Amino acid sequence: MFPDDEACNTYVEQLRWPKGFICPACGKHSKCWHQTRNRLVCSYCRRQTSITSGTIFDKTRTPLTTWFEAAWHLSTSKNGLSAKTLERTLGTRYRVAWTMLQRFRVAMVRSERERLSGYVEVDETLLGGADQGGKRGRGASKSVIVIAVEVLEPKGFGRIRMRHIPDASGANLLPFVSDFIATGSTVHTDGWRGYNNLSQKGYTHKKTVLSTSDDPAHVTMPGVHLVAGLLKRWILGTHQGSVSSEHLQSYLEEFTFRFNRRTSKSRGLVFRRLIEQSIQSNPVTEAAITHGYDW
Ligand SMILES: [Zn+2]
Repeated sequence: MFPDDEACNTYVEQLRWPKGFICPACGKHSKCWHQTRNRLVCSYCRRQTSITSGTIFDKTRTPLTTWFEAAWHLSTSKNGLSAKTLERTLGTRYRVAWTMLQRFRVAMVRSERERLSGYVEVDETLLGGADQGGKRGRGASKSVIVIAVEVLEPKGFGRIRMRHIPDASGANLLPFVSDFIATGSTVHTDGWRGYNNLSQKGYTHKKTVLSTSDDPAHVTMPGVHLVAGLLKRWILGTHQGSVSSEHLQSYLEEFTFRFNRRTSKSRGLVFRRLIEQSIQSNPVTEAAITHGYDW
């Protein structure tokens, strides 16, 4: 479908202005003409607009065909791909592959705004860092990730949310719950005191105190247990475990995007969604992703 930049530009233009061009400069629903394949001129105010301005494709020297090819690989491969693999697949420089993936991860978060609801499990997991034998990996200490999983009736799991937090104190756990879970939901946690005030925040709080329960964690929290296991395997497999703490949240966003679309039958639709979100997303500068995007 996308033999050249022109085809990509046309696709972006159609997704961006499905009901006809709206000039970003004057805001008018106006006619426009193409000055070049990427530049439109408003017939009303005569100002020029680049088709990709104001999107994550903006201000990059990478051609749209390369972006599209990367998006295709990213949305059609079951487990995604590392920057190293993308570098080899596209024949670009590593840095180009890496920054494209980082920008796509920023775009992926856009669709994940609606809060989880119903019955939701919440628990933390630890990732990377020191082994249990006391040996220290390059990542030094472990990262704490809090995970929320919708549990469906009669069985199965719905959507997920994840956040990399500095520690498992209430100061980090409660904002996570209120940001990502609708009030009125039932929130299932263990007995950790960090979750103590949930019932005052408008949630029905179901607590399973593990030390007094005979069930191991994978029985009482099957959703979180499953997701934590998949996440760890994904980071070890696709990314060979090489995810630094400062970039961890970006990877969590990609994992969430994938997991929440795992039942999508058409990979083509996932691709379209990724391009759509890349258009709706604001430009991301190189500087903004170099040391970890500020989520
Ligand atoms: Zn205009």
